[in-house]
Amino acid sequence: ESLKRIAEVEKDVQAFLLVDEEQARERAKAIDQDIAVSEDLGILAGLPMGVKDNIVTEGIRTTCASRILANYEPIYSATVYKRMLAGQAIMIGKTNMDEFAMGSSTEHSAFHPSYNPWNLDYVPGGSSGGSAAAVAAREVYFALGSDTGGSIRQPASFTGVVGLKPTYGLVSRFGLVAFASSLDQIGPITKNVEDAAYVLQTLAGYDELDSTSANVSIPDYITPLTGEIKGLRIAVPKEYMGEGVDPAVKEKMLEALKVFENLGAVWEEVSLPHTEYAVATYYILAPSEASSNLARYDGVRYGVRTDSAENLIEMYKKTRSEGFGSEVKRRIMLGTYALSSGYYDAYYRKAQKVRTLIKQDFEQIFAKYDLIFGPTVPTTAFRIGEKISDPLQMYVNDILTIPVNLAGLPAISIPAGLVNGLPVGLQLIGKHFDEVTILRAAYAFE
Ligand code: GLN
Repeated sequence: ESLKRIAEVEKDVQAFLLVDEEQARERAKAIDQDIAVSEDLGILAGLPMGVKDNIVTEGIRTTCASRILANYEPIYSATVYKRMLAGQAIMIGKTNMDEFAMGSSTEHSAFHPSYNPWNLDYVPGGSSGGSAAAVAAREVYFALGSDTGGSIRQPASFTGVVGLKPTYGLVSRFGLVAFASSLDQIGPITKNVEDAAYVLQTLAGYDELDSTSANVSIPDYITPLTGEIKGLRIAVPKEYMGEGVDPAVKEKMLEALKVFENLGAVWEEVSLPHTEYAVATYYILAPSEASSNLARYDGVRYGVRTDSAENLIEMYKKTRSEGFGSEVKRRIMLGTYALSSGYYDAYYRKAQKVRTLIKQDFEQIFAKYDLIFGPTVPTTAFRIGEKISDPLQMYVNDILTIPVNLAGLPAISIPAGLVNGLPVGLQLIGKHFDEVTILRAAYAFE
């Protein structure tokens, strides 16, 4: 069914960088045989999935949508991919993304953009735009994405699906190609909340191969989905509903709050005063970490090497100049600058301090409330080409998702209706490792 659907719609949506039909059919056959001989089925048995192309898959090309990795076939698999295989999911292919997950529209893919299935003139969001578009267009049952500053939630919002960014440390990053290691998290993109709970159940868990993996016990995410949320305390930050939020999006949020009221939840307005510094903080820290992480692409260890160099230094320079796209180069330059001696204290260290203040804002709210509510993005999807030449415009689109990564918190985006034919997502942010409350509330709302 999945391959049939891809044959119908993929020419328009272009969600995939690689569709691995042979591998998928073989796996489906193997799972069929398992099913015939064993009662013991994985909870994702037989479900077709898409995997973002920054998650390494042994023997299957993994490009991060970059020319510099255009020929890279990993010799090992990411922990999350192994977990999905253990859950008996079937990978249909690798999904498109902004190069190295840097962007909010999937237009920064070195190979081709992806398109929003609701209206092909619009972006599907990013950087996990291929994963979101593939789920929204029903090409796969679910997909994996990664979220450094919103890259699971923002495309979920733009394409009318569910996207969950888990608590930092809940899901292994081993085998996720690093962008900003202190912010990156892998999570599910699904059609509905229940599916998100099933996929998270399979993804979550301690991994000794990831030094930042949290050794916590994993709760049951599925049984608590009862629809019952009476007495839940919801905080609504005024900074998330104010200036800059499209009035039609705000309207949808007020309607959603009514639904929560009717379900017996209570909500109050609160303040997260450092919200306005989140984007600036992120665009110091994320590029700094990226500039360091991307130093490994030197034409020696991974991927593509220039064929026109006379000596070693020239080989490094040409490989990187030819291999990286303009947004990636911009980030490497920003990060290298912020980390350089003489600027480190003014930029990098300062940003780390502000990161702590943002985290404390959240801690104060969570001392009194169970969840924080707001739009995922201040607007619906924008047009292809609309923001591509103005990086700052692209950056501020993530204003409501970035604070969550800076604080390491879990958050979900779920559909909250349509504005002018395009989906709007609402965001629920939870306490560290309290995915259960997020999923419960999201399920009751849905
Ligand atoms: N859009 C943000 C950026 O460009 C976040 C991307 C992400 O979460 N990977 O960095």
